[in-house]
Amino acid sequence: MEALSERTRTQAATWRPRRVLATRSARAFAHGRAILERAAARGIEIVELPGDRLNLAFPDDPRRAYAEAKSTLAVVVAPPSKRRLQPIAPSADWRVDLAEGCPAHCSYCYLAGSLKGPPITRVYANLDEILGVTPDYLGQGTITSRNAARSSEGTTFEASCYTDPLALEALTGSLSAAIAWFGRWNAEAQLRFTSKFADVEPLLGLRHNGRTRMRASVNPRAYARFEGGTAPVAQRLQALRKMAIAGYPIGLTIAPIIAAEGWQDAYGALLDDAGSALSGLAELDLTVELITHRYNAGSKAVLDSWYPGSSLDMTETNRVTKRTKFGTEKQVYDTATMRALRTFLEDRIAQTLPTARILYWT
Ligand code: SF4
Repeated sequence: MEALSERTRTQAATWRPRRVLATRSARAFAHGRAILERAAARGIEIVELPGDRLNLAFPDDPRRAYAEAKSTLAVVVAPPSKRRLQPIAPSADWRVDLAEGCPAHCSYCYLAGSLKGPPITRVYANLDEILGVTPDYLGQGTITSRNAARSSEGTTFEASCYTDPLALEALTGSLSAAIAWFGRWNAEAQLRFTSKFADVEPLLGLRHNGRTRMRASVNPRAYARFEGGTAPVAQRLQALRKMAIAGYPIGLTIAPIIAAEGWQDAYGALLDDAGSALSGLAELDLTVELITHRYNAGSKAVLDSWYPGSSLDMTETNRVTKRTKFGTEKQVYDTATMRALRTFLEDRIAQTLPTARILYWT
């Protein structure tokens, strides 16, 4: 699954699920029906479920089950818990979920182990209800306001915690609706999303009012084998440029930073490419987020079953165990590796993207 050809990668970057499941309650929402109409217009099979349970039956063969789940989109109603927003440090004050799951095939995917069950993608039909609670959280976050580089952004809302919303946008329109929603606000707030996809055309003409920051989630070209089904990095950078020209604040999420052999050359080339792609833009509002690769026993087990041939190193080499504030453990790079990565990246960012503000390192 890692070795997708460039042509397949580009096709996959415009996702077309094999089937769309629609629960009964989801069909009662105009946004849910609009998603189904777009899917039907593209000739995608629609399965109208009699109730609200997905009742998914997948093959016993884990590879086939994975493939079927990854090619399935479900239109559902988000549970009430999605309307009680959770803090999401260090990315943003609050997490706002437009969907859950992603059609791509990254062999480090951070969703593995955190989402239960087969990896189908669920999009939420009750988008208006989800967005409707966001004003209640204005001024309540503490993550952004404590960071001097971010204090001008107001309360921040992250839409990419459990999905890549741009990957789904052609079918859902959810991201456009969220951008327009925040664009209408007369308050200090920011919607944020990060993406490994590149089809930003539907977003360029929206009345965003500068209240949405798109970040391109990038890794070196040399690591494309770890990011099956995503858009090529060069396209992501060009998408970011288009968004900046359309007046959006933008950013790079360099994630996950992988200390594979030759990482200095690989990340140096990535930053050179980013510098070229974003050159000549006046009043560029550019941020950078730096997130190192990590995993835990649960996510490693899931990823090993999904991508058994992956060459991504998840051995104990260069790793230490870190205990989280929730009492769980994760494997992160050891201190020497972390220091080398951080020093290198911060220096190169200062050289290639001198106006960029680094928001955090983790
Ligand atoms: Fe996971 Fe992001 Fe890759 Fe999707 S694009 S598979 S969410 S890492």
